[in-house]
Amino acid sequence: MHYVSIAIDGPAGAGKSTISKILSARLGYMYIDTGAMYRAAALYAIERGINIKTDRDKLLKVLGDIDIDLHYKGSVQKVLLCGEDVSQRIRENDVSIGSSDIAVIPEVRKMLVDIQRNLANNNNVIMDGRDIGTHVLPNADLKLFLTASVDDRAERRYKEMLEKGMKADFKEIRASILYRDKNDSERKTSPLKQADDALLVDTTGNTLEQSVEKIYGIIMKNIKAEE
Ligand code: C5P
Repeated sequence: MHYVSIAIDGPAGAGKSTISKILSARLGYMYIDTGAMYRAAALYAIERGINIKTDRDKLLKVLGDIDIDLHYKGSVQKVLLCGEDVSQRIRENDVSIGSSDIAVIPEVRKMLVDIQRNLANNNNVIMDGRDIGTHVLPNADLKLFLTASVDDRAERRYKEMLEKGMKADFKEIRASILYRDKNDSERKTSPLKQADDALLVDTTGNTLEQSVEKIYGIIMKNIKAEE
């Protein structure tokens, strides 16, 4: 049996996860938020007082015991770290920065990529991240590279955090996005890059609804026609 896989990559705050959640619920596919996995791994290290940049041996040792679970109710996602709901905590700025720092470590990537591939081998999936089309699922049925201007991306993340009742500082969010764009694009292992066969979708100036409909149309044209 062939399971369909749709890979969505792009820089921080391009709307990948919000759009993927809505579309996977609509299509009845499983949504896999790979960024949440890197975030959960970073939080695990932060909670144990491990410096992600300098304590690599200690970090790899403790990550052996990690247990990350993603749960969904419709399009609402819950991230469980060793049974504890950390969905909100992993969106805070220290974890955002930590996730980008932990994502440069090849052993961490390998561990998470194994989990991601296993899920895609057994389900129809929309998977979003940075290296899905280039590395995790090179044979995905459809690859999209989602982007938008830095200001649009920072503005969206800012509003999203306020809506969730979290504290948010626009300047800090914008700086964090720029830090992650650079870190994610320049790392040696699986850097953020548009796959040669990915379609570029720029959502600058679009509302969420407009982006969702645009991408839904691309999926219908490219995937549903094949089924
Ligand atoms: O997508 P999100 O912003 O939640 O991802 C958090 C961080 O995890 C990114 O900045 C990136 O460094 C890392 N990441 C990655 N590869 C993925 C998904 C996320 O390196 N497939």
